[in-house]
Amino acid sequence: MKRPRLQRILQTLSLGTFLGFLGFLSFRAAQGITPDVFLWLDPLGAAGAMLAARAVIPALLAGLAIIATGLFVGRFFCGHICPMGATLDLAQGALHIKRKKGAEPGPGARRIKYGLLAACLGSSALGVSLLYWLAPMPLATRFWGLVVLPVVRLGLDSGLGALRPLARALDWRALSFAVVPVPRFATMLFVALLFAGLFALARSAPRFWCRCLCPAGALLALFSGRPAWRRSVSPDCTGCGACIRTCPMGAIPEDPGATRFRECIACLRCVRVCPENAVDFRLLPRSAGAESFLPARREFLAAGLSGAGMAALALTGLDSPALKEGVAGTIVDPDRVRPPGALPEGDFLARCLRCGECMAACPTNTLQPAWLQAGVWGMFSPVAEARRGACDPDCAECGRVCPTGAVRPLPLSEKMWAKMGTAHVLRQKCLAWEWGKPCLVCKEVCPYGAIEMRRVDSSPVTVPFVLGNRCTGCGACESRCPVQAASAIQVEPMGALRLAEGSFEKAGRGMGLDIRRAVQTIRPTHGPAEGASPFDPAPGAPAGAAAPFDAAPQGPAPASFDPAPEAPSQSSPFDPPSK
Ligand code: SF4
Repeated sequence: MKRPRLQRILQTLSLGTFLGFLGFLSFRAAQGITPDVFLWLDPLGAAGAMLAARAVIPALLAGLAIIATGLFVGRFFCGHICPMGATLDLAQGALHIKRKKGAEPGPGARRIKYGLLAACLGSSALGVSLLYWLAPMPLATRFWGLVVLPVVRLGLDSGLGALRPLARALDWRALSFAVVPVPRFATMLFVALLFAGLFALARSAPRFWCRCLCPAGALLALFSGRPAWRRSVSPDCTGCGACIRTCPMGAIPEDPGATRFRECIACLRCVRVCPENAVDFRLLPRSAGAESFLPARREFLAAGLSGAGMAALALTGLDSPALKEGVAGTIVDPDRVRPPGALPEGDFLARCLRCGECMAACPTNTLQPAWLQAGVWGMFSPVAEARRGACDPDCAECGRVCPTGAVRPLPLSEKMWAKMGTAHVLRQKCLAWEWGKPCLVCKEVCPYGAIEMRRVDSSPVTVPFVLGNRCTGCGACESRCPVQAASAIQVEPMGALRLAEGSFEKAGRGMGLDIRRAVQTIRPTHGPAEGASPFDPAPGAPAGAAAPFDAAPQGPAPASFDPAPEAPSQSSPFDPPSK
């Protein structure tokens, strides 16, 4: 009798739970859920992030435990639990990707994963994380959370829109006004294309990623040479080769009685297809399996040194248009505003897996994956783009869901003091400063009362000034500024407070900050127009014009960052001509 499809059941449960967590991520009702649990399990994420951060990250100890399971059940995790493997299997089945004859990857291709593992660990040893390109759990989270989920929500929202006329006609009020928030992310297309490429590799072999590329699989394989629970073949085997043809990992060599244990993911397909019921998985005394494509020691070492070399290059700062912070006089990209509670930049980049959980959880869509604002090594790390939405003063989800502590989990009272940056008025764009039109949107939406309207000689109306010591950099002003395209008030990392430990409030007060909630909040006072979603981008495109000055993001915040009223206004290439 054939075994039930244990792999399919476990994979379905695992992927379903993973997607369920992601789906509920941005609903406040899901506060009790710990959505990052799958990220804790990533063996490479755990080893690499702790090595790069030079710290024990308690949540990631689970990933180290997964590595140890290799000694007992081989790469069972890859075959049954990993959402990346389940995603690849699902895509291959759903898209009917057929294997091309003769395209089987050779031994050299199958050793690539060990080289990538060595490169990842080599760079992590120097404190630079390359995991974001290769660790399977962050990749799967980014794909489902930042690509598929928004598309699903868009579909649901469009469906609701189509039902709205009917709901209005029948006076179904709940349905008439229901909207599904649709977040949008800067790198969606890139990630979608990356996964399309991974799916297409199944033309060469099923699970090409797991066979040849996945460094987490390679790490598990190193411990899976002699698993206690493993494939065994009885003398009933007739050598028909059905198992060899079915094995998705190419783990059975020409002799069907042998097994490459480091490649076997214990999917049990060989058990199911064997016409003689000659194959089983059982506890057996330890013994080595068939030869398993392990690289030579010098190849492994060379790959590790290459990773370390890339890390050394990253540490020079040459890769980055934005040089390292904390060095007097260096430049920081004005668009690199980090989430509230983000560790100091070096620690932050070492820990951040670029999984995108914080971005998927952000209810206002302000958190976006970076392109090159933080250099090549900072790609896909979260930055706040206030023009898309402000950081909600009543939310600290990014810290709560971050699996590595790259963004510290903070209570709201502390998060308020985790200053992200400071708003700056671009006077040549401002309706009040440049055009003499009465406008006080920025003052009205600021949840912290950090905008003051003052009279100046050059304008017939009162004009906005930013009180730097009260501004948290939340971006409410930038997101709601009515000026088209780039806002006339923009948040920059200037004056950001980034602490690895200790109280933000205490440090902030020491710097002279005076942050308190004003009476109004963003949404009740200036929420989106009727029918719009709170995730809708603010009018105009995301801010693209860099302010013509930079400053180191840390260090004490001055009492006010505004120049004196008579100082010349800032110019921007997008501005209309002066009067
Ligand atoms: S900061 Fe965001 S992207 Fe980075 S590890 Fe934390 S949750 Fe993931």
